[in-house]
Amino acid sequence: MKKLKYGNTNTFFISGLLVDTDYAGTLPAFYKALKKNGVRVTDIKYVLATHYHPDHMGLIGKLMNQGVRLLLIDVQRESLHFSDRLFERDGLPFVPINEANATVISLGESRDFLARLGIAGEILRTPSHSPDSVSLVLDDGDCFVGDLEPFEYIEAYEDNVSLKKDWEHLLSFHPKRVFYAHAPERTVQGELWNNNFERIKPNRR
Ligand SMILES: [Zn+2]
Repeated sequence: MKKLKYGNTNTFFISGLLVDTDYAGTLPAFYKALKKNGVRVTDIKYVLATHYHPDHMGLIGKLMNQGVRLLLIDVQRESLHFSDRLFERDGLPFVPINEANATVISLGESRDFLARLGIAGEILRTPSHSPDSVSLVLDDGDCFVGDLEPFEYIEAYEDNVSLKKDWEHLLSFHPKRVFYAHAPERTVQGELWNNNFERIKPNRR
């Protein structure tokens, strides 16, 4: 797994799968980050956006023109063009995503799909940040949650039902390291989970 940071968003490269891209206009910086990490564009088979806010998908259209396939989760379909108008308004170099060239799968299909890339894990819906938000959870304990609010914040929000639900879902996979798009990664400790989620007694899979 490689963390590629070339702007304000942490993006990740895992066995042929790129998770998120930064804003439109960051392509030159992206290439530099690839080079620094010894990754070629042709090594990227698929790109997955944790959600379609502008700082998570700005390069996808351009990468698709270079042969990278978009892995689109069916629940994200409606949000695909969420950021187009913003990029147009700001006059940024941007290619709208052509959905016809995307590989569309359901969440339930994600485990088998990822296995074919050599990735053991699955994709979950974690919609507390936005309706199209998903997280990638790997069996080795790494999870990639995009803009999901860190679990430490749960108690700080009065209206935290959906955030709590997302974390309960993630917790059931026993993640060991959580990778955020805009915060440093966190190691998950059992005691911390227990303090935050006293009523949860997850079963180890
Ligand atoms: Zn966001």
